[in-house]
Amino acid sequence: MAIQVCVRCGEKTAKMEACGYCSRMLCRNCVKSCRKPSRTERLCICKDCWSKMATRKKYKAVEKKVEEEFEPRDFGRPRGRRRF
Ligand SMILES: [Zn+2]
Ligand SMILES: [Zn+2]
Repeated sequence: MAIQVCVRCGEKTAKMEACGYCSRMLCRNCVKSCRKPSRTERLCICKDCWSKMATRKKYKAVEKKVEEEFEPRDFGRPRGRRRF
């Protein structure tokens, strides 16, 4: 996959996520979280949209099947590892 530059923070990454609300392509650091409403769908919200209460409410209303949190402290950690 080609290296792309995040429009929000300028981070160069090969792993971009599209925000489902502002449609920007962002790096994982700028994506707050992602949900999978169904097996084929994937919905992500960026930190900018997360900070807007109206958008956050919309995101929270999406049925939660699978959620991935992208907190900076978890970045790069092996999947499924918990802090506690
Ligand atoms: Zn970024
Ligand atoms: Zn957004």
